[in-house]
Amino acid sequence: MNDTVLIVGAGPTGLSAAAGAASAGRKVVLVEKEKVLGGAPILSGYARLVPSGEWAKDAVGRMVARVTGGARVTIHKGAKVAGIEGDLGNFAATLSNGQTVNAGAIILATGFTHFDSINKPEWGFGTYEDVVTTTQVEQMVASGKITCPSDGRVPERVCILLCVGSRDRQIGREWCSKICCTVSTNLAMEIKELSPKTDVYIYYMDIRTFGLYEDKYYWRSQEEFRTKFVKARIAEVTQGPDKRLLVKGEDTLVKRPIVIPFDLVVHAIGMDPNLDNPEIAKVFGVGLEKHGFLERGEHYTSSFASTRRGIYAGGSALGPEDIDTCVSHGLAMVMRAIGDLNALVQKAA
Ligand SMILES: Cc1cc2nc3c(=O)[nH]c(=O)nc-3n(C[C@H](O)[C@H](O)[C@H](O)COP(=O)(O)OP(=O)(O)OC[C@H]3O[C@@H](n4cnc5c(N)ncnc54)[C@H](O)[C@@H]3O)c2cc1C
Ligand code: SF4
Repeated sequence: MNDTVLIVGAGPTGLSAAAGAASAGRKVVLVEKEKVLGGAPILSGYARLVPSGEWAKDAVGRMVARVTGGARVTIHKGAKVAGIEGDLGNFAATLSNGQTVNAGAIILATGFTHFDSINKPEWGFGTYEDVVTTTQVEQMVASGKITCPSDGRVPERVCILLCVGSRDRQIGREWCSKICCTVSTNLAMEIKELSPKTDVYIYYMDIRTFGLYEDKYYWRSQEEFRTKFVKARIAEVTQGPDKRLLVKGEDTLVKRPIVIPFDLVVHAIGMDPNLDNPEIAKVFGVGLEKHGFLERGEHYTSSFASTRRGIYAGGSALGPEDIDTCVSHGLAMVMRAIGDLNALVQKAA
């Protein structure tokens, strides 16, 4: 029996799993398709993370440093798993770089894909330069300046549209992406910190700053940073004769049409299933749930099992999750993998 753990994906989930398996004395092979480790927070250049307030490059950088340089972890960057054979305790994986990895268990930490706002054309992304996404604003905050891409001016008025690519049955996204209300209220405060004269509006259907995020983000952004919340249904984003953006819709509290000018419109984009998931399902022989995220085996007594024995799935590969949860999933998958491998040894003894 081989007790090496093969981990696919080096975002927060995979990095947590790799550190966990190594600390439990297992050999780890980590396969990441990009040339850089860290997943979405690093690849998309997030600024300060919620809820820790730490810069993503520092927080996730620490997670990366924990697994690089250790004798137990072998890392393949810029590589994918092209095929696997075998079963729990005895898998052989062929990588796209031509190498073969033998492992007893496989952890899928392959994450999510950001919603592409092009799929919501009526809200102006791709048509107007000053319609951007939360990931672009994260990058602006990280660079220390909030500007309108069209001409570099500091915006007087910014609006953040929530639920872009989430909770939208018309475009086949029936899920709530869980973290974007909190991320957006945090960004509203960061914009105000960088540019105190800028007014920030948030247009919402519901606010879901879940758990302990309610006072730290929702109330604080209103009470200390004067973020204005408008409950609305947005119909479209267009441009006025003065080139400012016009956000049109209905204020659903007073039931009146609204047309409000802004300098910068931000899409709070959701978390889609990883675009690779059909390929991952085929290569690893695992199932996908109806939206296209990886399918869980069973929830309570076999948590984090995929639909194939010896292969585990967790983090945002299963559906929208925040980083804290992904870190826990990473450790939980390792626990499951080691437990199943131990059971195999005991059975054989
Ligand atoms: C705008 C925005 C801001 C956010 N800000 C926060 C925040 O402040 N705090 C917070 O807690 N959460 C935040 N999140 C959520 C956070 O991004 C996720 O919780 C986290 O990135 C999920 O980690 P993961 O490892 O599961 O997936 P990912 O971060 O997606 O990492 C998956 C990794 O797997 C790799 N991969 C994918 N497919 C393959 C393949 N086929 N083969 C090999 N490798 C593969 C990818 O390249 C990537 O490196 C935010 C989300 C969004 C959309
Ligand atoms: S977390 Fe908020 S913005 Fe994100 S999908 Fe859910 S309700 Fe919409």
